[in-house]
Amino acid sequence: MNKERRLIIAGNWKMNKTVAEALSLVEDLTRAVASVKEVDIVVCPPFTALESVSRAILESKNIKLGAQNMSENHFGAFTGEICAGMLKEFSVRYVILGHSERRQFQKESDALIARKAAAAHAASLKPIVCVGETLAEREGGQMEQVLETQVRGSLAGLTKEQMVETVIAYEPVWAIGTGKTATTQQAQDAHAFIRAQLAKMFDEATARKVRIQYGGSVKPNNAQELMSQPDVDGALVGGAALESRSFADIIKNSV
Ligand code: PEP
Repeated sequence: MNKERRLIIAGNWKMNKTVAEALSLVEDLTRAVASVKEVDIVVCPPFTALESVSRAILESKNIKLGAQNMSENHFGAFTGEICAGMLKEFSVRYVILGHSERRQFQKESDALIARKAAAAHAASLKPIVCVGETLAEREGGQMEQVLETQVRGSLAGLTKEQMVETVIAYEPVWAIGTGKTATTQQAQDAHAFIRAQLAKMFDEATARKVRIQYGGSVKPNNAQELMSQPDVDGALVGGAALESRSFADIIKNSV
């Protein structure tokens, strides 16, 4: 598939997989995608499996490591938190920020996510910043307002250079883990809207370089159609990333 931007497909394992299970998954995945060169592949295990997975993909040329969250602070008295420097010890390259589950359960605000994104860049980690509307917001005609607020708030203060090194994940909350996927047109429209906001916040050239992933019940059978949309530059995958076969098939069907 000929894309303007290089595809990035990330697996968010959430609070799943023991170390042994994580190793088994990533070893199978490494074999299954060994020949794929056209996609940045990212796996995001829980913190407890980062070290083992990091070692397991040391030799892999195409699989990179991501974390699912990090602190906005760099060190100190923040019990239970993990900072960017600690992630770097395990060669983590990406960090998911502001996932809708954290926005919902940990009440993460756009302002907090923006501070985390700044902290990630300060440590040369690439943030994957998640945005997306709920079903009530979409049905209430507020989708664009919600996306604009989240994009402006969560990316506030980034330089153009940092923005280009930031990935956005558009994840309609109603499509996450529900089996309901946005239609390709709904995904494309939301991605184009987000890119237009980036052009207003930064400039056209910057907006054109930013990769925007789609997330929400991506499966092997819908990946190709979603990725064929001009503004869809990859996927953030939850459930289907927990098995090497389905995640590898999503990746292979996307190229
Ligand atoms: C997610 O949680 O980021 C996600 C997209 O989950 P799923 O693929 O299971 O809908």
